[in-house]
Amino acid sequence: TWKSERVITSRQGPHLRLAGGGAGILNFCANNYLGLSSHPEVIRAGVETLEQFGAGLSSVRFICGTQSIHKDLEEKISHFHQREDAILYASCFDANAGIFEALLTPEDAVLSDELNHASIIDGIRLCKANKYRYKHMDMQDLEAKLQDAQKHRLRLVATDGAFSMDGDIAPLKEICRLAEKYEALVFIDECHATGFLGPNGRGTDELLGVMDKVTIINSTLGKALGGAAGGYTTGPKPLIDLLRQRSRPYLFSNSLPPAVVGCASKALDLLMESNTIAQSMAAKTQRFRSKMTAAGFTILGQDHPICPVMLGDARLAAVMADDMLSRGIYVIGFSYPVVPKGKARIRVQISAVHSDEDIDRCVEAFTEVGRKHGALP
Ligand code: PLP
Repeated sequence: TWKSERVITSRQGPHLRLAGGGAGILNFCANNYLGLSSHPEVIRAGVETLEQFGAGLSSVRFICGTQSIHKDLEEKISHFHQREDAILYASCFDANAGIFEALLTPEDAVLSDELNHASIIDGIRLCKANKYRYKHMDMQDLEAKLQDAQKHRLRLVATDGAFSMDGDIAPLKEICRLAEKYEALVFIDECHATGFLGPNGRGTDELLGVMDKVTIINSTLGKALGGAAGGYTTGPKPLIDLLRQRSRPYLFSNSLPPAVVGCASKALDLLMESNTIAQSMAAKTQRFRSKMTAAGFTILGQDHPICPVMLGDARLAAVMADDMLSRGIYVIGFSYPVVPKGKARIRVQISAVHSDEDIDRCVEAFTEVGRKHGALP
């Protein structure tokens, strides 16, 4: 189960070339949900911004690292999410590392879903607030913890909007209802939702009708929004102002490189022009999920392009993933400690730029490999 990295010698996309000769490999394990990583307009915007604004700022934002493009992108992000303001980071990992410590004191409490992303867990570790961990998406447990947390000054419920390992979606309606009842703020990490969940791709809060109830959103520019790098927090202006003063990964790390800003900015333009791109993935996801289920596999989650093919055994997941690659399909097995013991899986991720034929080829290969290794009868 030792992890190794496969080396890609082409652009990111549904069809890849790998070092060592593999060409025409079908890629089913990138977070390139909308295919914007290699979109011609996104690439052109990156090149133009690179030429106009240079390779980088050689500085953090508050010394001499803020260009007009950084301010423009922050405005675009807050407009996209219908929030008051936004702040950019070098990654969403940094956004998550910076927010809890800046916002919460030892008098406060943070309530976190047990399956939250590692960067949320690390961010919470860095703050001195009282920590509660509620069972995954368990609203009874969250309510009990919120009751206990009434003794603290401020309560913040923190959850992934969509969970990256299981492809399931946080019950935000119920979370927001409980937050209202117990006077808590709601924070969501939208890395696996921004750009494609909800009628206009705004994310889980749009999908579940709670855009006006979620206070803080952290998300990434490194997945659906062009896939380069970068992260952000968007929410109330006073909170964003506070982060600019206090958030350590923002204060003490370089500004986002202009080319990256240019790519993300164009990706947001494309998504705000029309909702066709955001809508383009649902049918493909449905095709993969229903065909795999019919073939006898168990797929976790609902309607999300993250489709975990459950296998249980860590070695089986690794061996099957290798065998899939020998048939030209690039997928990755996940096992402990990334997922709980006994819940190893191959995580398939559907992209809007997969064709129906790509998806059918993937299902056929899974069926053959599953039979060969005993995962299917
Ligand atoms: N949060 C979640 C849920 C993620 O899946 C990831 C990336 O894997 C991150 C945060 C970190 O995002 P970034 O790659 O922008 O640091």
